[in-house]
Amino acid sequence: MNKQELTDRLNAVGMRPGRGLGQNFLLDGNLLEWIVRKAAPRKDEEILEVGPGFGALTERLVASGARITAIEYDHRLADELRRRFAGTANFRLVEADACKVNFGGHYPEGSDFRCVANLPYSISSVFIADMVKLPSPPSYMLFMLQKEMGERLAAPPSCKAYGALTVVTRSIYDVTIEKIVPPEVFFPRPEVDSALVSFKRHGRFALSDSDRKHLSTVVRLLFNQRRKQMGKVLRGVFPADKVDRALDELAVSREERPDKLPVETLIELSSLLYREEKN
Ligand code: SAM
Repeated sequence: MNKQELTDRLNAVGMRPGRGLGQNFLLDGNLLEWIVRKAAPRKDEEILEVGPGFGALTERLVASGARITAIEYDHRLADELRRRFAGTANFRLVEADACKVNFGGHYPEGSDFRCVANLPYSISSVFIADMVKLPSPPSYMLFMLQKEMGERLAAPPSCKAYGALTVVTRSIYDVTIEKIVPPEVFFPRPEVDSALVSFKRHGRFALSDSDRKHLSTVVRLLFNQRRKQMGKVLRGVFPADKVDRALDELAVSREERPDKLPVETLIELSSLLYREEKN
């Protein structure tokens, strides 16, 4: 779809792209093809797409024969998608705010699905946090994100961008910035660069549901006060002797800052802090 075709479609449904909904439509056909090649959708597999817009990416995903569930919040676009994909057996539209969807109901434990989207930037952190909380998170995700968000999720320890969402996400996924994408490929142009970022589930830590909840609680606590010494922060919530023993066992100083610690150490720390004491 070129800019003229997109403008015609916008006029036909009587809408102007909204900033609040991150309505920056992807115009570059080569990039759309690149995304689909990278994701390599397979016939009959389940793929979730958030924010299908006019369906530029959706039509390519549908053509692969994968079963596409698309979530669109804007009712004018939802109407357009219903019309466009009417009678397409492998397409299902959910007209909803993706931040309010009960994904655990759609994808219960044991579900096998992947996720591909040009995400509206305003919901990307909430949506990714929702995905990593699922009992069976997607085995793979490929997202267009604001470049800073991609850098945050791929950041190494000791980097300013390394935070709680980084740790929780990387406890499940290897995160790779695949491509930096300039504003020119969108209409309207966003004010920032974007990045195509892949998330491959690695299975290195075999964390249970409760392990993941505990990790999330511990890293949010620590990174909310990231400039403070870890010993002090943790002792505000956990018994002091337990904190000291856990830090000693990991050979981490009480004065250490959380952003210095790699993901695996933070996972071990959380597991030690929540370990039942045996008498
Ligand atoms: N996929 C299209 C493309 O690549 O051209 C559109 C992508 S555009 C960046 C984001 C899309 O997400 C828009 O269609 C917008 O209406 C939709 N959207 C915004 N907020 C949403 C939300 N909370 N839930 C579901 N869709 C949302």
